[in-house]
Amino acid sequence: MVESRMLLNPAQVCEALGIAPKSIGRLTAEGYLEVKANQQFKNGNMQLFSADQVRNLIADIPRIKQAWERYDNFRFGANRLARARACRHRSYQDKIKRKEQFFQTLDSLPGQVKQILKASFYLYHLNHYAKAGNPYLYDLKEKVLHTFVQHYYNGDELLQVSFIEGDSKLTLCPDCKTRAKNQNLSYVDYLDKTRGCPRCTREYKYYSLYEFNVCCRDYQFCFHTPYATAKRWFGKDQLPPQKQTPRREGAYAFGRAIYDSEARAVELIEVIEELQNFLHCFGIEPLIETRRYNFGQSRQPR
Ligand SMILES: [Zn+2]
Repeated sequence: MVESRMLLNPAQVCEALGIAPKSIGRLTAEGYLEVKANQQFKNGNMQLFSADQVRNLIADIPRIKQAWERYDNFRFGANRLARARACRHRSYQDKIKRKEQFFQTLDSLPGQVKQILKASFYLYHLNHYAKAGNPYLYDLKEKVLHTFVQHYYNGDELLQVSFIEGDSKLTLCPDCKTRAKNQNLSYVDYLDKTRGCPRCTREYKYYSLYEFNVCCRDYQFCFHTPYATAKRWFGKDQLPPQKQTPRREGAYAFGRAIYDSEARAVELIEVIEELQNFLHCFGIEPLIETRRYNFGQSRQPR
């Protein structure tokens, strides 16, 4: 039995209700669910919800989903949406198959290789979820990439890191802002014209990145992290080589980029849980609760 004051995070809410994270926003906007608290992470807030409210919603979810479908059909056209849904469903089944295939292939690989490829698979999906409006998940991404550097970065093909230099960030000082206004220039135009003055603040290499490439056989994953986040992860003797242009971030299984819809076959709670299991192997404590509660009702398929 769940305590009445207990709070659930978005991954737990999605798991309990069988919904995608973006539907949480819709439930709160329509008054079905309230944000009860926020947990502060370095990269953003994680909303928390009442377990009681979530439990009470389980029975209503099919009705709410039908109402959403009717509304969306009315707004965007029923035929168009029916085609989109059928396409999404086919694509979802395809993703499930690919996921199974991926894990089958992993079984034939040596333990360490398997471990980093599996973590990369989940990290790719975490990134996708983080980009879709859940920036607090970047805290977990940082921990995983840092662990990659500590335990896998040894000059092998398997993990390669490069440094991509970007511009420094320049913020105009109050005087320059006034001058820009007096000259009828936007701050950006003023910056382009003058490059600021010595009293403006410059954040060195602000837009620089580290690029991580995890490669093995047919699989390739690519991740980026800001220079400021990762600069202390590398010893003097292992500084990543510089590269000119970043590769598109993503996963390249079977020689192609993973489709966005692939993420639907991999739920947020599974992603968090698997990445925290990976970190646990290296003694790192979990950041996000992933306990699953049995609310006594079987949930709807998504
Ligand atoms: Zn200035």
